[in-house]
Amino acid sequence: MRLSFYNTLSKSIQELNPVKDGTVSIYSCGPTVYDRAHIGNMRAFLFADVLQRTARVIGGYDVRWVMNITDIDDKTIRNSTDGGERWHSGMGKHTSDPKHNLAAYTQYYEARFIEDIATIGILRSHMIAMPRATDYIPAMQDLIRLIHQRGFAYVADGSVYFNLTAWQRADTYGKLFKVDAENFREGVRIDADEYERDSVSDFVLWKGAKDGEPSWDFEIDGVNVPGRPGWHIECSAMSKVLLDVPFDIHTGGVDLRFPHHEDEIAQSKAGYGVEPAQFWCHNEFLEVEGKKMSKSLGNFFTLHDLTSQGLDALDIRFAMLSAHYASVYNFTFDGIAAARKARMRVQEFIYDVWSAAGTQSADVAALRDAVFGELATDIHTPKALAQIFSFINKADGASYNAETRLAMLAFLEELNGIFAVWHIGERPAEEAEVIPEFILALAERRLNAKKQRDFAAADALRAEITAAGYTLKDTKDGYTIERG
Ligand code: AMP
Ligand code: ZN
Repeated sequence: MRLSFYNTLSKSIQELNPVKDGTVSIYSCGPTVYDRAHIGNMRAFLFADVLQRTARVIGGYDVRWVMNITDIDDKTIRNSTDGGERWHSGMGKHTSDPKHNLAAYTQYYEARFIEDIATIGILRSHMIAMPRATDYIPAMQDLIRLIHQRGFAYVADGSVYFNLTAWQRADTYGKLFKVDAENFREGVRIDADEYERDSVSDFVLWKGAKDGEPSWDFEIDGVNVPGRPGWHIECSAMSKVLLDVPFDIHTGGVDLRFPHHEDEIAQSKAGYGVEPAQFWCHNEFLEVEGKKMSKSLGNFFTLHDLTSQGLDALDIRFAMLSAHYASVYNFTFDGIAAARKARMRVQEFIYDVWSAAGTQSADVAALRDAVFGELATDIHTPKALAQIFSFINKADGASYNAETRLAMLAFLEELNGIFAVWHIGERPAEEAEVIPEFILALAERRLNAKKQRDFAAADALRAEITAAGYTLKDTKDGYTIERG
């Protein structure tokens, strides 16, 4: 099936025609490993995951997927340089070597990130690489030298900047996100990795070394400019090395359209001479009470926070996939509970199809076309799910013949290759319920009280058991306890 996606570059839904036949290459801006990712970040990675799974399952493509690890930027440096309360025992010793500290600090959070994505159903094995920026510094330096040779970069105050005035004479700046010419500050230099649209000006490619910060030697224009890369150049260089340019799809959250992705386009085109990606696909925010979930607002949950509270990560995955990636997702605990119910409804249907043989038939090919058609058109997961639920509602407990069951299970297996939240198989046998030790202890004390004819104590103990959510029944030989 042909795939089409909304492309921020063309502002329209466009059909995917990969650069190389049969292969789709995708670069996703990955986490900045200065802390645990929050579930807003997870939404961005889940979006990329569902996009690449759709390309595999529905498009039938070989997928070359890269998600980078930003292990050097303003935030990772800030957090790794102080060995204070942010330093965890798993990071080893904080030393006087800033490069060592940066690596120890970021690799600790990289490991947490790899745990998190596994928990939420993103397979590391689906990626051809998860490159760390610090491993690609020579490629970044090569790109900066190319940009400089072509006249779009200059060295000033020990750093290297992108010359936006020169670039705007050669090409458009503001392809993803309209940048007003009146906001352009000619000749003003910006050192920060993140900045607003009202301060459009020459952005840093290479930041001059600062005391106590990690730095690398860099020969440019016959001089050594020791320092470290700016954030934007990292993705331009890593995507070129690992996927070559142009590649097919670049993903990230909407906040990355400017300046990160805008600057990436300018750098790649200025240095390599071609636009880096055919498609730029952006997910909307996950919000809490109308505000973007973010570290700076303090309104965030990590996946670990939620699973520690007993939530199932697959319910979180399913909840996020129940909304279209391009609309805002409002996070609530009720939303996750509703998602669990919906997910289980499909799961029960799968168990029934697996085990209940009957005589009815169904047009599975039509269902498959309808569901995959929704996913193939801008990954419309909610519309695809609506098709599934409408089918299940109409089926109303039907038992299918062998042919329909086989076709249905094959389709559900394919679908689960994208959603990855169901178990395609037999309904597991009910597990014997485990009654907690403290309840068993209360029940034993009650039995003893009864034997000693202390009925007041026995009643009080039964009340405690009931209050904890268990039902005790007396039997001939003793008692039984059940939950509820
Ligand atoms: P960072 O680790 O900050 O570089 O962000 C990683 C990814 O998460 C980027 O693609 C961001 O655009 C995305 N992101 C950050 N906050 C949110 C949010 N609240 N909702 C959705 N995506 C987000
Ligand atoms: Zn990036």
